[in-house]
Amino acid sequence: MPDRAQLERRATELLQRLIRFNTVNPPGNEQAAQEFLRDLLDAAGFECRLLAAVEGRPNLVARLGASSDGPRLCLLGHVDSVLADPSEWTVDPWSGHLRDGCVWGRGALDMKGQVAAEAAAALALADEGWRPEAGELKLVFTCDEETGAEHGARWLCEEHPDAVRCDLVVNEGAGQRLEFDGRRLYGVCVAEKGAFRFTLTTSGRAGHASVPRIADNALVRMAPLLEALREGRPAYSLSPEPEELLLALGLDPHDLEGSVRTMEAKDPRVAILIEPMLGVTLAPTMITASQKINVIPSRAELQVDCRVPPGLGEEAALTAIRAALGNDGYEVRFDDQVSGKRSPVETPLMDFIRDFVERTDPGAGVAPVVLPGFSDSHWWRAAFPECVAYGFFPRRRMDAFEAFSLIHGADERVAVEDLGLAATFYAELMVETLR
Ligand SMILES: [Zn+2]
Repeated sequence: MPDRAQLERRATELLQRLIRFNTVNPPGNEQAAQEFLRDLLDAAGFECRLLAAVEGRPNLVARLGASSDGPRLCLLGHVDSVLADPSEWTVDPWSGHLRDGCVWGRGALDMKGQVAAEAAAALALADEGWRPEAGELKLVFTCDEETGAEHGARWLCEEHPDAVRCDLVVNEGAGQRLEFDGRRLYGVCVAEKGAFRFTLTTSGRAGHASVPRIADNALVRMAPLLEALREGRPAYSLSPEPEELLLALGLDPHDLEGSVRTMEAKDPRVAILIEPMLGVTLAPTMITASQKINVIPSRAELQVDCRVPPGLGEEAALTAIRAALGNDGYEVRFDDQVSGKRSPVETPLMDFIRDFVERTDPGAGVAPVVLPGFSDSHWWRAAFPECVAYGFFPRRRMDAFEAFSLIHGADERVAVEDLGLAATFYAELMVETLR
């Protein structure tokens, strides 16, 4: 097993290099970053393929096989990033600058840091002559995650299933330390919510804006509906993953409102992060009405980003909408209906993660979490229903709140010691799983 210091150094150097490739999506331009990773893995003995749906935006699949059968383990990551406005940053977002024990730059957390830790672990093992004794190791680095995976994970899983089929996937989604009420937990992302985004329409009667009472203003009719969505609280409904999570936090999963009140009292930041896992959320984000300032609109449209726990669908979304807005005075049209997906909570992979956490941070534990958003794991779970996909990028120095505020924000950075911790986890996982 390569030592921790070596893994930390390799992951740090790799991350600095990866950040210097500007892969802001759109447009992505992932080619150079993927060729860089391909060349390193190819030289270490991996069989590498660049698979592209569109020119200049390849996905990388690198594999190392064994002569006997065993589990197929996939370490997954995406190399594109969201944009960064340099005027908001204290360093150049594409510098990969090393300062205060952290690597700084767009993608440090989401998710070039994890890509670097996965690749560093695989390269260090392969350089020592390690090969899987059984099964198969795949490193899959996708493009186009940040704008919906059309050319990335979705395309790969649908068009090249044989290249990316596997039994175990480790991807992004969780792994930060979370402290609550004297407990220290590391989240493992076992499920993701679905998106049931919709357009809410109100209707009235058009008229000249100089005589307001001559018309019936559809935009004003939207006001009480918007007001009803102000709090952003979910309609609570218990599902299996949050049940485990609340138990791990020392809360009562059968009293969701009471549990949220306790979180609010002890640490409101914990309530903000965990509450969306407990039900359907409704967040209004875009509104349109009249196209002219002097015309009172007969129609207004509000777009609402609605996220639904895995296992629930349109009916749960409609129930939450009616509970918040009542039954009348608007129409609903769903624009997207993507169901959330989950993997089982109790698996040998979870046991392995729990053991790693207990060894490296005595007194800490693991807890399953549901990602309120969406990641490439969705496409693996959809294409290969038998595979177990977890999000886990262990980080100890930076807690969940710090990390959440930096993801997609300014001054994104990751602690060097956390890169070493994560690379150690991935190296141990490869050796233990593929023996
Ligand atoms: Zn990401």
